[in-house]
Amino acid sequence: MSANNLHEADRHMVHQQADLDGHDKKGGMLIARGDGVRVWDTEGRDYIEAMAGLWCASLGFSEKRLAEAAYKQMLELPYYHTFFGKAHGPAALLSEKLTGLAPEGLNHVMFQCSGSEANDAAIKLIWYHNNMRGRPAKKKIIGRIRGYHGNTVATASLSGQPHMQADFDLPYGDRFLHVSNPNYYRFSIPGESERDFSARMAAELEALIEKEGADTIAAFFAEPVQGGGGAITPPEGYFELIQPILKKHDILFVTDEVICGFGRTGNMWGCDTYGLKPDILTCAKQLSASYQPISATLISDALYESLLEGSRKHGSFGHGFTYGAHPVACAVALETLAIYEERDILSHVRAVSPVFLKGLEALKSHALVGDARGVGLIAGVELMADKAKREPFPAAAKAGLAVQAACERNGLIVRAIGDRIAFTPPLIISAAEIADMLARFSRSLDEAAETLLVRQAA
Ligand code: PMP
Repeated sequence: MSANNLHEADRHMVHQQADLDGHDKKGGMLIARGDGVRVWDTEGRDYIEAMAGLWCASLGFSEKRLAEAAYKQMLELPYYHTFFGKAHGPAALLSEKLTGLAPEGLNHVMFQCSGSEANDAAIKLIWYHNNMRGRPAKKKIIGRIRGYHGNTVATASLSGQPHMQADFDLPYGDRFLHVSNPNYYRFSIPGESERDFSARMAAELEALIEKEGADTIAAFFAEPVQGGGGAITPPEGYFELIQPILKKHDILFVTDEVICGFGRTGNMWGCDTYGLKPDILTCAKQLSASYQPISATLISDALYESLLEGSRKHGSFGHGFTYGAHPVACAVALETLAIYEERDILSHVRAVSPVFLKGLEALKSHALVGDARGVGLIAGVELMADKAKREPFPAAAKAGLAVQAACERNGLIVRAIGDRIAFTPPLIISAAEIADMLARFSRSLDEAAETLLVRQAA
């Protein structure tokens, strides 16, 4: 089919998280194929995919072993469920493997198809747990402004993304609360150290708990590195100060590792990088290198005890999805984890991360770049109209989108989140490809600056 016909066909699709009006008028970018860290559009242009799609295609876009694992499983057992006491080999083996890799104490796992469903399930389990523990009032859940945990009714309520809530009648009900965004560069008071900023964030959390009453707060959700908020690494001391507050008030800690899980931060989990001890961990994306949709919710023994208790009480544990623990997705996830181990993906990330982070650090001398920081192979670059005065661009300037468009002209796919540019390249990216990626980015910044800074000055 010709590219023109595909664009015509594409008009029937309601695009996700998109400027629908702009798309209707101008059409979009249709991606035709991929190879390594690159993708090609239907016009034949190639791009370095510096976002690994949606922070997820860890092994790039041409890993044949994953295609073969899916094909083999489809021939053997293309579908089966895990309801009513049934199970199958790929789900059983993946459960054993994942709980073996998980942070200490998370010995039980549930499977779904997406990160949203993993977090939605976590929320349901938390409510269920507190009902079993005889604490029916302890149900509120705290998230963070600009945090992102998904798009179901519950997870979009928990996320702190106003444009995903307005006019959807979200947040739903009165069970979702939010604390401030921990972006030190943007929200610290002049002269405030990172530690002092973290202490202020922790004090805000504790004040909210005390105001609402700890007996009404069930859980706190956090991404170790905030993705959809703009690739924001936690400020120094942040989690160190927050975890004891949660313990003190008997509040469950959920780490959303949908982006960080499986090596993104240079360790298996963001929890390892930042010393986190969660009661629940959710993961997806890199679990299958995104060649199949699959997510997991890992829970502690204490939570599992509640599920057992509820199951005894009601005769069954009343939760599950048709495609939860899908055998093809589980087989692809198992193969992905085997590849990570065989190729020692964690050592690779640690080896190339300094090239990535130092390269971004060097870009801080650019007139548009206020801040650039990251960890492993995830980083955010904050654009500023006037760095010296720490003055952001007015929203109408759409500075982030202007840089993103310049990048695309230079064969580079990045993501503008407001005026932060996010990078999460496939974990397999080489040092030479990182250098090429950053050279394209630097060129794009120069081009965008010509119009953005001139317009500012006018
Ligand atoms: N949590 C985090 C941290 C995410 O980044 C995302 C997706 N970007 C989700 C949850 C939701 O995952 P999904 O889109 O697979 O539902």
